[in-house]
Order: sequence, then structure tokens, then C-alpha cells
Amino acid sequence: MSSLNSNIAAVMKQAVEQCKDNKGGENASYIPFLSSVPSELIGLAFVSVTGEVIKIQDADYKYALESISKVLTLALALEESGADAIHTKVGAEPTGLPFNSVMALELHQGMPLTPLVNAGAMATVSMIEATDKEQRWNKILDFQSELTNSKIELSDEVNQSEQTTNEHNRAIAYLLQSSGRMYSEPMEACDVYTRQCSTLINSVELATVGATLANGGVNPLSGKQLIKTENIPHILAEMVMEGLYDTSGDWAYDVGLPGKSGVGGGLLTVIPNVGGIAAFSPRLDPYGNSVRGQQMIKHVARTMGWNLFTSQ
Ligand code: GLN
Repeated sequence: MSSLNSNIAAVMKQAVEQCKDNKGGENASYIPFLSSVPSELIGLAFVSVTGEVIKIQDADYKYALESISKVLTLALALEESGADAIHTKVGAEPTGLPFNSVMALELHQGMPLTPLVNAGAMATVSMIEATDKEQRWNKILDFQSELTNSKIELSDEVNQSEQTTNEHNRAIAYLLQSSGRMYSEPMEACDVYTRQCSTLINSVELATVGATLANGGVNPLSGKQLIKTENIPHILAEMVMEGLYDTSGDWAYDVGLPGKSGVGGGLLTVIPNVGGIAAFSPRLDPYGNSVRGQQMIKHVARTMGWNLFTSQ
């Protein structure tokens, strides 16, 4: 391990030590499965752009990808259709609202404000080119596997738990259709969106996605160019503006790096040209962001001096 990376490993260990006794927040409860995940789990992983992997504590524990999947499907849509075409259908504006807000599609003449809240994410799913729902789903799942450099699978248990409680998202899908912003059958888009949230991932795999975004779209573990370099700034800009929902501004103010949270307890953060860091801890703040995940990544980023807005 390089001396930079052994320094990162030491700081990551420190972060876990400092945060592990924080009992703040609660597991998500609106998706029944998520309330049953052991709340004390805590993991942190870093993957560098050169492919070095650092993992601390429960970094191999698999959890539901949830909203972080929105970033991966956005990347796929950009690959297929190009940034300009996507931007005419879904915006790049922070909502300042909860992730499942219907206002996310009311404020911009019916156009979803961003692909990183539920409304924009379901519209983005519906844009993935496919002849039917299963083909669309398989493309999304395969892309999750490519980006993580691992075989990603659907959890039937998580999916079942979400599919039977997602009335709110189904309503959003119909609202999108009524404003002409849904590009497949709405219940199919909602179904595929719910599945993409219900895959299982561990923190090393999630950090690998971050490292790919930090590395011009080349997955440093497989060496494959998965995302065009020109699409990376669009993805990272969306993450800065909306990655932690209504506290994205606080995250930019405090950490200054693109992040993306999921109600499964995962939190991904990208350090361009350096790597990806992923934290996992199930207890969430009222906005749906992992409490200890934010605390750990904040500690590592500050100690390492990682902040995109810093100048000398
Ligand atoms: N599947 C979840 C939902 O749509 C994802 C939300 C999240 O992680 N913020 O409600």
C-alpha cells in the first residue's frame, strides 16, 4: 500500500472508532425490511483510482442500494442518449424537498427537477432504451454489476417489502405520465425503479462505483471504460445539488464533495481523481441520510483535506 493510502486507512479507522458509539437517528421504517437491519452495523470502504481497496469493519456487509441506484441509472441513460437529450427531459436543479416529494415535478412546468429524487429517477428509468420491462431491468442490473465490478443481485425480500408498500411512488409515476414526462408504461417504470433500489451491495462495491466516477468513467478494478468521460461532470453536478436531498446544501457547505445517500444506510462520496469512499450505517437522520455515514465521511474528507471548493 502506498504511504498516502496507509494514511487514508489510518484516518478511516479513526473515523469508525469516533462514530461507532453515536446512537443518533433511526432505521428507515416506511419500508418494512429496512427496519429489521441490525442498527449497530458500521462499515467504511475506499477504492482509489489506481484500484487499491481499503475496508474497515462491516465493509463487506450487503445492504439495499436504494436511492444510490439513481446515480447508476442516470449514468446509463447518459451513455445511451447523451447529456443534451437527457437534459431536455429531466432537469438539473436542487429541489430542497424530501426525496419523494411530488413538488419535484410541479415546479418546472411538469419536468422533474433532477434525476436524483423519486420523480426524476422514475422518468430516467423509463428513458432506458428497451423493447420491454424485463430488458430494461436487465440493462440496469447489468450496469450495476459493471460499475461495482461484482455480480449484483436483486433481494427478493427487499423488493417484496418495497413493491407492496410503494403506493406513493406509483402515484408519482402516474403524475409524471399526466404531465407527459413518463416514457414507458408508468407502473412498469415504477416496478423497475423499485427493483433497482432493492439490489444488495456492500461498501467496497459502492466505493468502486465512486472510484469509477472519480476516474473519468474507467472502473479501476476492471479497467473498463463504463461511462464516457464527458458525462462525469453532469453526474457529479447532480450529486452535489441533490445527492443528500434537502440537506445537499449542508453537505456541500461542510464537505464540498459529490455525495449520494440511500435509505438502506449507504452513503457514497466521490473525490475526483482520488477515489470513491462509501459508508454504511443504517440509522438515518430525518432526511433519509445515514447519521454515522455522514459523520465518518466528513471526518475522513476533512482530515485528508479533500474538498472540491478549496483553493490555496
Ligand atoms: N426505494 C426508496 C423509495 O423510493 C428509495 C428512497 C431513498 O433511498 N431515499 O422510497
